[in-house]
Amino acid sequence: MTVKPETVTARATVYGYPRQGQRRELKQAVEGYWKGRVTADALRATAAELRRGNWQDLVDAGIHEVPTGDFSYYDHVLDTSVMVGAVPERHRAAIEADPLDGYFAMARGTQDVAPLEMTKWFDTNYHYLVPELGPDTAFVADSGKQVAELKEALALGLTPRPVLVGPITYLLLSKPAPGVAADFEPLTLLDRLLPVYAEVLADLRAAGAQWVQLDEPALVQDRTPAELNAAARAYRDLGARTDRPQLLLASYFDRLGDALPVLAKAPVEGLALDFTEAAAGNLDALAAVGGLPGKRLVAGVVNGRNIWINDLEKSLATLGTLLGLADRVDVAASCSLLHVPLDATLERDVDPQIARWLAFAKQKTTELVTLARGLSQGTGTITAELAANRADLASRAGSPITHDPAVRARAAAVTEAETRRSQPYPERTLAQRAHLKLPLLPTTTIGSFPQTGELRAARADLRAGRIDTAGYDERIKTEIQEVISFQEKTGIDVLVHGEPERNDMVQYFAEQLTGYLATRHGWVQSYGTRHVRPPILAGDISRPEPMTVRWTTYAQSLTERPVKGMLTGPVTMLAWSFVRDDQPLGDTARQVALALRDEVDDLEAAGTSVIQVDEPALRETLPLRAADHAAYLAWATEAFRVSTAGVRPDTQIHTHMCYAEFGDVVQAIDDLDADVISLEATRSHMQVARELAAHGYPREAGPGVYDIHSPRVPSAQEAADLLRTGLEAIPAERLWVNPDCGLKTRDWPEVQASLASLVTAARTVRAEL
Ligand code: GLN
Ligand code: ZN
Repeated sequence: MTVKPETVTARATVYGYPRQGQRRELKQAVEGYWKGRVTADALRATAAELRRGNWQDLVDAGIHEVPTGDFSYYDHVLDTSVMVGAVPERHRAAIEADPLDGYFAMARGTQDVAPLEMTKWFDTNYHYLVPELGPDTAFVADSGKQVAELKEALALGLTPRPVLVGPITYLLLSKPAPGVAADFEPLTLLDRLLPVYAEVLADLRAAGAQWVQLDEPALVQDRTPAELNAAARAYRDLGARTDRPQLLLASYFDRLGDALPVLAKAPVEGLALDFTEAAAGNLDALAAVGGLPGKRLVAGVVNGRNIWINDLEKSLATLGTLLGLADRVDVAASCSLLHVPLDATLERDVDPQIARWLAFAKQKTTELVTLARGLSQGTGTITAELAANRADLASRAGSPITHDPAVRARAAAVTEAETRRSQPYPERTLAQRAHLKLPLLPTTTIGSFPQTGELRAARADLRAGRIDTAGYDERIKTEIQEVISFQEKTGIDVLVHGEPERNDMVQYFAEQLTGYLATRHGWVQSYGTRHVRPPILAGDISRPEPMTVRWTTYAQSLTERPVKGMLTGPVTMLAWSFVRDDQPLGDTARQVALALRDEVDDLEAAGTSVIQVDEPALRETLPLRAADHAAYLAWATEAFRVSTAGVRPDTQIHTHMCYAEFGDVVQAIDDLDADVISLEATRSHMQVARELAAHGYPREAGPGVYDIHSPRVPSAQEAADLLRTGLEAIPAERLWVNPDCGLKTRDWPEVQASLASLVTAARTVRAEL
């Protein structure tokens, strides 16, 4: 495409940037503050320095408008709660005594008060703190943080654009406060909230903001007509104010659908839309409403959620089409760059062939600037960049890493029969019973045992060369011996080896599979000061050699009881990694599934009779729009079955899920065709058992009776009561007894006492049958 110069001014911008700093300085400062090692002033100074550094990076790269207010000590939704004065009663005193300590009390709780609940930010792996609202909530504007950060940027001579969570999204992400009726709808508070937003906007305008961005990602989800009307009303109302800056309404993560005409008609000056594949349909829908005459369109053409270089020519073509649809078109990433690591050039260990395909936040910023230049000054001004980009893309498309003929042939040849167990559940369960000879209400755990300081030290020693592989293996073996002997003594029926060799349930496998890449510095904020380093699914996936067999067989050699093999399922591997964007997710899932299938088969051949394939992420990867659910669940459940269906009828396949309401995926759980599923259930008092029963779920299930997210030790009586509740929904022949999730975050004494309670409970209830 060629764009005529002098006709267009397009600029590059971003909605947000990684907050933690190159060496996670923010994490260190915040955690230091919590421990009393860092003063409040020092923390503030570190934060200001990080903001300044980020803005400097952006401006140096050529970004025109820089975001402000996207920085956060903990979470931007929590910041919004503070901005609108939605502080729960129980945190009021703390906030009044000291705003910073009160803020952290809302985030983390204190000895006496519970924190806000935390949940996932749309379908990302970022977690936000859920606002608690009720009919008595009185909002009060506090624009202090926003105004201060705006002024910081202005003082540096920058063109800042404050970014706020929009009022509709804020309310739709909220939940009824404790003690408020569960059917209370926070959106009914809109009329009370709008004047507070108006006041913040007026303050920002008075402080010098030309533009303010209001993020409304909740509008890319399925919305009722009433919710869309509320959005229309909100922006009619805010738009009508005369004391406000120009407003940019931003959406991302998916298509706007029915919300697009609503926002296009709103009396605001700009709209930001996602034009990546995740939001396919936005372009046509925008054309269908006649574009945005007289408005500014910010076009999210660079994917803000993955780590791949952009196809610059494709983006320029999209931008060229958009030029005809708005008054002014600016170039942006599809969403905040919060969701990607900072700088790909820090990854010095990555194969240089792959490194050229990677773009983290810094590299994406450069892409945006290149695109804006190409768009406004003509593609002739970016010929070198385009040529380099074309070569990088071609190297990826033609690479043996992304195209392994053996992997592709195998994936293409999977037959329907290979996706099904050789016998239906009612038959194979008999074979399993005969083979395993377990008591009624068998006890087991979910896999991991406490990841002690010694284990972490052993890994660090290995990395630093202080011990060799043999020395490390010895430490792991000693740990396995302890875990096995403890379980035998406690009276657990189906044992685990405890996963001491695993740093992380995804990374451990990523490091061993060909085509999968672990990063060294690719940190992404998960919540607060917690960061994860998602591995990268870079190429076709194959398994050079068994990954877990030796540890499982070692554990099995120590006991007569069955030891469960323990693997991470294909859907979870994808959900907690950066995925390929050059083939459908289902294809990647199938490749991972086939590698796991070999592992499952090898475990079986080595004498493992029970194999668990964890899929805790099955529910959280559900697409944002209901119309896309069926297609996702079809490939996701098939991938699970591909990984597990190769075993004999008498080998028992387990799966595990947590972190979720399961209501809308019970059919999918059924479609996994696992013999046994363990689920998180303690806090909901076995709700999931009732949901499975209502669905007619025919297989075995272990709804958790020990809440591993709490240091509390359950009594045997509590656990027995939960089991009795479980028995009301699931018959004794199909009920298992287990904790909610793995034990790796707990301490040994708690685990010992809790599992003793669990075994006593199982024995007590067995005696009542
Ligand atoms: N097997 C894993 C463990 O026990 C499962 C973890 C999870 O569900 N997140 O740690
Ligand atoms: Zn779990």
